[in-house]
Amino acid sequence: MSTSTNQTTRKLADGNEIPLLGLGVWQVPDGPDCVKAVRWALELGYRHIDTAQAYRNEGSVGKALKESGVDRDDVFITTKFLPRAKDPVAELEQSLRRLGLDHVDLYIVHWPEGGPTWMWPGMERARELGYARSIGVSNFSETELASVAGIADVMPVVDQVNFNPTAFRRVLLDACQRRDVVLEAYSPLGTGSLLSDATVGAIAARVGRTPAQVLLRWCVQRGVPVLSKSTHRDRIEANGRIFDFALTDEDFSQLDALDRTGGTGNGLEQPWW
Ligand code: NDP
Repeated sequence: MSTSTNQTTRKLADGNEIPLLGLGVWQVPDGPDCVKAVRWALELGYRHIDTAQAYRNEGSVGKALKESGVDRDDVFITTKFLPRAKDPVAELEQSLRRLGLDHVDLYIVHWPEGGPTWMWPGMERARELGYARSIGVSNFSETELASVAGIADVMPVVDQVNFNPTAFRRVLLDACQRRDVVLEAYSPLGTGSLLSDATVGAIAARVGRTPAQVLLRWCVQRGVPVLSKSTHRDRIEANGRIFDFALTDEDFSQLDALDRTGGTGNGLEQPWW
Protein backbone atom coordinates (compact mmCIF):
# COMPACT_ATOMS: atom_id res chain seq x y z
CA MET A 1 0.00 0.00 0.00
CA SER A 2 1.14 3.46 -0.82
CA THR A 3 0.90 5.52 2.38
CA SER A 4 3.58 5.42 5.05
CA THR A 5 3.02 3.62 8.34
CA ASN A 6 2.79 6.64 10.60
CA GLN A 7 1.03 9.22 8.43
CA THR A 8 -1.83 10.51 10.62
CA THR A 9 -3.59 13.16 8.51
CA ARG A 10 -4.72 13.63 4.94
CA LYS A 11 -5.05 16.82 2.94
CA LEU A 12 -8.49 17.61 1.52
CA ALA A 13 -9.02 19.23 -1.90
CA ASP A 14 -9.71 22.60 -0.22
CA GLY A 15 -6.35 22.50 1.59
CA ASN A 16 -7.70 21.57 5.04
CA GLU A 17 -6.22 18.56 6.85
CA ILE A 18 -8.35 15.72 8.19
CA PRO A 19 -6.95 13.43 10.92
CA LEU A 20 -7.07 9.84 9.63
CA LEU A 21 -8.61 8.48 12.84
CA GLY A 22 -11.77 9.88 14.42
CA LEU A 23 -14.12 8.86 17.22
CA GLY A 24 -17.71 8.42 16.03
CA VAL A 25 -20.61 8.88 18.44
CA TRP A 26 -23.57 7.35 16.59
CA GLN A 27 -25.83 5.52 19.07
CA VAL A 28 -24.17 7.14 22.06
CA PRO A 29 -26.92 8.84 24.08
CA ASP A 30 -26.56 12.54 24.82
CA GLY A 31 -25.28 12.87 28.39
CA PRO A 32 -22.49 11.45 30.59
CA ASP A 33 -21.63 8.44 28.37
CA CYS A 34 -21.07 10.63 25.34
CA VAL A 35 -19.16 13.28 27.31
CA LYS A 36 -16.91 10.58 28.82
CA ALA A 37 -16.19 8.87 25.49
CA VAL A 38 -15.24 12.13 23.80
CA ARG A 39 -13.17 13.31 26.77
CA TRP A 40 -11.29 10.01 26.90
CA ALA A 41 -10.64 10.14 23.18
CA LEU A 42 -9.26 13.68 23.44
CA GLU A 43 -7.12 12.73 26.47
CA LEU A 44 -5.79 9.74 24.54
CA GLY A 45 -4.75 11.87 21.59
CA TYR A 46 -7.69 11.66 19.16
CA ARG A 47 -8.14 14.98 17.37
CA HIS A 48 -11.22 14.16 15.27
CA ILE A 49 -14.82 13.69 16.46
CA ASP A 50 -17.76 12.74 14.21
CA THR A 51 -21.32 13.62 15.26
CA ALA A 52 -24.55 14.50 13.43
CA GLN A 53 -27.77 16.41 13.90
CA ALA A 54 -29.55 13.03 13.77
CA TYR A 55 -27.46 11.65 16.68
CA ARG A 56 -28.86 14.28 19.06
CA ASN A 57 -25.61 14.40 21.02
CA GLU A 58 -23.89 17.51 19.68
CA GLY A 59 -24.36 19.16 23.11
CA SER A 60 -22.30 16.42 24.78
CA VAL A 61 -19.58 16.64 22.14
CA GLY A 62 -19.30 20.39 22.74
CA LYS A 63 -19.28 19.93 26.52
CA ALA A 64 -16.52 17.32 26.34
CA LEU A 65 -14.42 19.47 24.04
CA LYS A 66 -14.72 22.44 26.36
CA GLU A 67 -13.99 20.41 29.51
CA SER A 68 -11.01 18.66 27.90
CA GLY A 69 -8.92 21.82 27.81
CA VAL A 70 -7.66 20.81 24.35
CA ASP A 71 -7.35 23.80 22.04
CA ARG A 72 -10.45 23.93 19.82
CA ASP A 73 -8.28 24.64 16.78
CA ASP A 74 -6.43 21.37 17.30
CA VAL A 75 -9.61 19.28 16.97
CA PHE A 76 -11.44 18.39 13.74
CA ILE A 77 -15.20 18.38 14.38
CA THR A 78 -17.69 16.99 11.86
CA THR A 79 -21.44 17.27 11.96
CA LYS A 80 -24.04 16.23 9.39
CA PHE A 81 -27.05 17.96 7.86
CA LEU A 82 -30.21 15.93 8.42
CA PRO A 83 -31.85 16.13 4.99
CA ARG A 84 -35.36 15.85 6.44
CA ALA A 85 -34.94 19.53 7.31
CA LYS A 86 -34.95 22.14 4.55
CA ASP A 87 -32.16 24.62 5.21
CA PRO A 88 -28.56 23.53 5.78
CA VAL A 89 -27.56 27.00 7.02
CA ALA A 90 -30.33 27.30 9.61
CA GLU A 91 -29.69 23.74 10.83
CA LEU A 92 -25.96 24.36 11.14
CA GLU A 93 -26.64 27.52 13.18
CA GLN A 94 -28.56 25.28 15.60
CA SER A 95 -25.75 22.70 15.62
CA LEU A 96 -23.17 25.38 16.39
CA ARG A 97 -25.29 26.60 19.29
CA ARG A 98 -25.48 23.05 20.69
CA LEU A 99 -21.76 22.45 20.13
CA GLY A 100 -20.81 25.84 21.60
CA LEU A 101 -18.63 26.55 18.56
CA ASP A 102 -18.48 29.25 15.91
CA HIS A 103 -17.64 26.79 13.13
CA VAL A 104 -17.27 23.09 12.41
CA ASP A 105 -14.39 21.68 10.41
CA LEU A 106 -16.57 19.54 8.19
CA TYR A 107 -20.32 19.71 7.45
CA ILE A 108 -21.71 16.87 5.34
CA VAL A 109 -25.10 15.95 3.90
CA HIS A 110 -26.04 12.84 5.90
CA TRP A 111 -27.74 11.05 2.99
CA PRO A 112 -29.21 12.01 -0.40
CA GLU A 113 -32.88 12.03 0.62
CA GLY A 114 -35.00 13.89 -1.95
CA GLY A 115 -32.12 13.70 -4.46
CA PRO A 116 -28.44 14.54 -4.31
CA THR A 117 -28.39 18.23 -5.32
CA TRP A 118 -31.22 20.29 -3.76
CA MET A 119 -29.31 20.96 -0.54
CA TRP A 120 -25.92 21.67 -2.08
CA PRO A 121 -26.33 25.48 -2.61
CA GLY A 122 -27.22 25.71 1.12
CA MET A 123 -24.12 23.69 2.01
CA GLU A 124 -21.99 26.05 -0.08
CA ARG A 125 -23.61 29.02 1.66
CA ALA A 126 -22.76 27.51 5.08
CA ARG A 127 -19.13 27.39 3.97
CA GLU A 128 -19.19 30.95 2.60
CA LEU A 129 -20.54 32.19 5.92
CA GLY A 130 -17.61 30.55 7.70
CA TYR A 131 -19.83 28.11 9.61
CA ALA A 132 -17.98 25.15 8.08
CA ARG A 133 -14.37 25.08 6.91
CA SER A 134 -15.06 22.14 4.59
CA ILE A 135 -18.24 20.66 3.12
CA GLY A 136 -19.02 17.18 1.90
CA VAL A 137 -21.54 14.37 1.58
CA SER A 138 -22.27 10.95 3.03
CA ASN A 139 -23.83 7.81 1.59
CA PHE A 140 -23.55 9.23 -1.95
CA SER A 141 -22.88 6.92 -4.92
CA GLU A 142 -20.55 7.76 -7.80
CA THR A 143 -23.62 8.78 -9.85
CA GLU A 144 -24.85 11.06 -7.08
CA LEU A 145 -21.38 12.63 -6.81
CA ALA A 146 -21.50 13.25 -10.56
CA SER A 147 -24.87 15.02 -10.15
CA VAL A 148 -23.42 17.28 -7.47
CA ALA A 149 -20.40 18.00 -9.70
CA GLY A 150 -22.86 19.15 -12.38
CA ILE A 151 -24.22 21.99 -10.21
CA ALA A 152 -21.49 22.72 -7.67
CA ASP A 153 -19.39 25.86 -7.39
CA VAL A 154 -17.44 24.10 -4.63
CA MET A 155 -17.23 20.29 -4.84
CA PRO A 156 -17.72 18.08 -1.78
CA VAL A 157 -14.28 17.24 -0.37
CA VAL A 158 -15.46 14.10 1.48
CA ASP A 159 -17.90 11.23 0.87
CA GLN A 160 -18.40 9.36 4.16
CA VAL A 161 -19.61 5.81 3.48
CA ASN A 162 -19.84 2.34 4.95
CA PHE A 163 -16.38 0.97 4.18
CA ASN A 164 -14.66 -2.11 5.57
CA PRO A 165 -13.35 -5.39 4.09
CA THR A 166 -16.89 -6.74 3.56
CA ALA A 167 -17.92 -3.42 1.99
CA PHE A 168 -14.84 -2.66 -0.11
CA ARG A 169 -16.36 -0.13 -2.54
CA ARG A 170 -13.53 -0.12 -5.05
CA VAL A 171 -15.49 1.59 -7.84
CA LEU A 172 -16.64 4.35 -5.48
CA LEU A 173 -13.11 4.71 -4.05
CA ASP A 174 -11.71 5.12 -7.58
CA ALA A 175 -14.46 7.59 -8.55
CA CYS A 176 -13.72 9.64 -5.41
CA GLN A 177 -10.01 9.66 -6.21
CA ARG A 178 -10.69 10.88 -9.76
CA ARG A 179 -12.80 13.75 -8.42
CA ASP A 180 -10.40 14.64 -5.59
CA VAL A 181 -13.04 13.63 -3.03
CA VAL A 182 -11.70 11.83 0.04
CA LEU A 183 -13.67 8.68 0.81
CA GLU A 184 -14.08 8.45 4.59
CA ALA A 185 -14.94 5.13 6.24
CA TYR A 186 -17.78 4.61 8.67
CA SER A 187 -18.63 1.34 10.44
CA PRO A 188 -15.05 0.05 9.92
CA LEU A 189 -15.71 -2.74 12.41
CA GLY A 190 -19.07 -3.54 10.78
CA THR A 191 -20.62 -1.95 13.92
CA GLY A 192 -18.82 -4.73 15.79
CA SER A 193 -19.86 -7.65 13.59
CA LEU A 194 -16.47 -8.04 11.85
CA LEU A 195 -14.52 -8.42 15.09
CA SER A 196 -15.21 -12.17 15.13
CA ASP A 197 -14.38 -12.75 11.45
CA ALA A 198 -11.93 -15.66 11.08
CA THR A 199 -9.71 -14.01 8.45
CA VAL A 200 -9.45 -10.81 10.49
CA GLY A 201 -8.70 -12.90 13.60
CA ALA A 202 -5.93 -14.88 11.88
CA ILE A 203 -4.21 -11.70 10.64
CA ALA A 204 -4.58 -10.11 14.08
CA ALA A 205 -2.91 -13.14 15.67
CA ARG A 206 -0.07 -13.05 13.15
CA VAL A 207 0.69 -9.33 13.62
CA GLY A 208 0.08 -9.43 17.38
CA ARG A 209 -2.71 -6.86 17.26
CA THR A 210 -6.45 -6.84 17.98
CA PRO A 211 -9.03 -7.50 15.24
CA ALA A 212 -10.23 -3.89 15.66
CA GLN A 213 -6.70 -2.56 15.08
CA VAL A 214 -6.36 -4.68 11.93
CA LEU A 215 -9.68 -3.39 10.54
CA LEU A 216 -8.82 0.25 11.29
CA ARG A 217 -5.32 -0.21 9.87
CA TRP A 218 -6.87 -1.63 6.66
CA CYS A 219 -8.39 1.85 6.15
CA VAL A 220 -5.64 4.21 7.27
CA GLN A 221 -2.84 2.36 5.49
CA ARG A 222 -4.60 3.12 2.22
CA GLY A 223 -5.05 6.77 3.27
CA VAL A 224 -8.77 6.42 4.04
CA PRO A 225 -9.83 8.43 7.13
CA VAL A 226 -11.73 6.15 9.50
CA LEU A 227 -14.33 6.66 12.24
CA SER A 228 -14.65 4.10 14.97
CA LYS A 229 -17.02 4.16 17.89
CA SER A 230 -16.52 2.90 21.42
CA THR A 231 -17.71 4.01 24.83
CA HIS A 232 -14.98 1.99 26.62
CA ARG A 233 -11.78 3.81 27.52
CA ASP A 234 -9.54 0.76 27.00
CA ARG A 235 -10.99 0.14 23.53
CA ILE A 236 -10.73 3.81 22.54
CA GLU A 237 -7.09 3.66 23.60
CA ALA A 238 -6.31 0.42 21.74
CA ASN A 239 -8.16 1.60 18.62
CA GLY A 240 -5.87 4.64 18.59
CA ARG A 241 -2.73 2.49 18.37
CA ILE A 242 -2.80 1.88 14.61
CA PHE A 243 0.05 4.05 13.38
CA ASP A 244 2.92 1.85 14.58
CA PHE A 245 2.47 -1.33 12.54
CA ALA A 246 1.78 -2.28 8.93
CA LEU A 247 -0.24 -4.89 7.09
CA THR A 248 1.45 -6.73 4.26
CA ASP A 249 0.23 -6.97 0.66
CA GLU A 250 -0.85 -10.53 1.45
CA ASP A 251 -2.91 -9.29 4.44
CA PHE A 252 -4.57 -6.76 2.12
CA SER A 253 -5.43 -9.38 -0.49
CA GLN A 254 -7.00 -11.65 2.12
CA LEU A 255 -9.01 -8.81 3.67
CA ASP A 256 -10.02 -7.30 0.31
CA ALA A 257 -11.38 -10.71 -0.72
CA LEU A 258 -14.02 -10.49 2.05
CA ASP A 259 -15.93 -7.90 0.01
CA ARG A 260 -19.61 -8.75 -0.47
CA THR A 261 -20.59 -5.67 -2.51
CA GLY A 262 -18.90 -6.65 -5.77
CA GLY A 263 -16.67 -3.57 -5.39
CA THR A 264 -19.71 -1.35 -5.80
CA GLY A 265 -19.86 2.30 -6.83
CA ASN A 266 -22.89 2.76 -4.57
CA GLY A 267 -22.68 4.52 -1.24
CA LEU A 268 -24.80 1.92 0.49
CA GLU A 269 -26.70 -1.24 -0.29
CA GLN A 270 -30.22 -0.21 0.75
CA PRO A 271 -31.42 3.37 1.23
CA TRP A 272 -33.06 3.69 4.68
CA TRP A 273 -35.20 6.70 3.78
P1 NDP B 1 -17.89 0.62 14.40
O1 NDP B 1 -17.76 -0.14 13.14
O2 NDP B 1 -16.85 1.59 14.81
O3 NDP B 1 -18.11 -0.43 15.58
C1 NDP B 1 -18.52 -0.01 16.86
C2 NDP B 1 -18.90 -1.23 17.69
O4 NDP B 1 -17.74 -2.01 17.95
C3 NDP B 1 -19.47 -0.86 19.02
O5 NDP B 1 -20.44 -1.84 19.35
C4 NDP B 1 -18.28 -0.94 19.97
O6 NDP B 1 -18.72 -1.30 21.26
C5 NDP B 1 -17.48 -2.05 19.34
N1 NDP B 1 -16.03 -1.87 19.50
C6 NDP B 1 -15.29 -0.77 19.18
N2 NDP B 1 -13.98 -0.99 19.41
C7 NDP B 1 -13.88 -2.24 19.91
C8 NDP B 1 -12.79 -3.03 20.36
N3 NDP B 1 -11.55 -2.56 20.33
N4 NDP B 1 -13.05 -4.29 20.80
C9 NDP B 1 -14.32 -4.76 20.84
N5 NDP B 1 -15.39 -4.06 20.43
C10 NDP B 1 -15.18 -2.80 19.97
O7 NDP B 1 -19.33 1.32 14.44
P2 NDP B 1 -20.25 2.41 13.90
O8 NDP B 1 -21.20 1.74 13.01
O9 NDP B 1 -20.74 3.17 15.07
O10 NDP B 1 -19.37 3.39 12.98
C11 NDP B 1 -18.44 4.31 13.51
C12 NDP B 1 -18.90 5.75 13.31
O11 NDP B 1 -19.12 6.02 11.93
C13 NDP B 1 -20.25 6.13 13.94
O12 NDP B 1 -20.16 6.27 15.34
C14 NDP B 1 -20.56 7.40 13.20
O13 NDP B 1 -19.80 8.48 13.69
C15 NDP B 1 -20.13 7.02 11.79
N6 NDP B 1 -21.29 6.49 11.02
C16 NDP B 1 -21.80 7.29 10.02
C17 NDP B 1 -22.89 6.88 9.29
C18 NDP B 1 -23.42 7.76 8.22
O14 NDP B 1 -24.53 7.50 7.71
N7 NDP B 1 -22.69 8.77 7.80
C19 NDP B 1 -23.56 5.59 9.54
C20 NDP B 1 -22.91 4.79 10.57
C21 NDP B 1 -21.82 5.25 11.26
P3 NDP B 1 -18.50 -0.39 22.60
O15 NDP B 1 -18.97 1.00 22.27
O16 NDP B 1 -19.35 -1.08 23.59
O17 NDP B 1 -17.03 -0.46 22.90
